[in-house]
Amino acid sequence: MVLFQSGETPIRSGAAVVLTQAGPRPGTLTLTNVAIVFETTGAPPPPGEGWGSPGGAGANEYRIGLWRVRQALGVKGPNGPVLQVNLLARVLSFQVDDIPGWAAVLTEARAHAPPPPADVQARRAMKKGGPAPPTRCAFCSQLSPAGSTKCASCGAPF
Ligand SMILES: [Zn+2]
Repeated sequence: MVLFQSGETPIRSGAAVVLTQAGPRPGTLTLTNVAIVFETTGAPPPPGEGWGSPGGAGANEYRIGLWRVRQALGVKGPNGPVLQVNLLARVLSFQVDDIPGWAAVLTEARAHAPPPPADVQARRAMKKGGPAPPTRCAFCSQLSPAGSTKCASCGAPF
């Protein structure tokens, strides 16, 4: 079962198979107002394909914030139609029932998703010539100004 975060509400959930370089990964796909959540029922999706590390109650839960989603659409895969989700730097492929329905709810949810986390926004601003990003503390997770040698909130050294 997906453990929802504060303010997070489920929009759609259903059986899905994630197609990975290491083979199919069956499980349950849940779309919420802030994230795509995939719960595997077997092997985990391999690292490096956009899923990152597991989290959640059973440690078989993989989250991708909707801010990372650029586009969702149905495409013809080599083994039949798939739901393709284009992330900022990765492409995910799912076998699901009702591909057009999933693409539509994902597109709608993406349009209303919260903005990227503050540190991501800061890095993007710096790439465009803006100020250096703040540093996130590993202990209290608060942000300190760029160049700080210790956390402005808890004093932990960087
Ligand atoms: Zn701190």
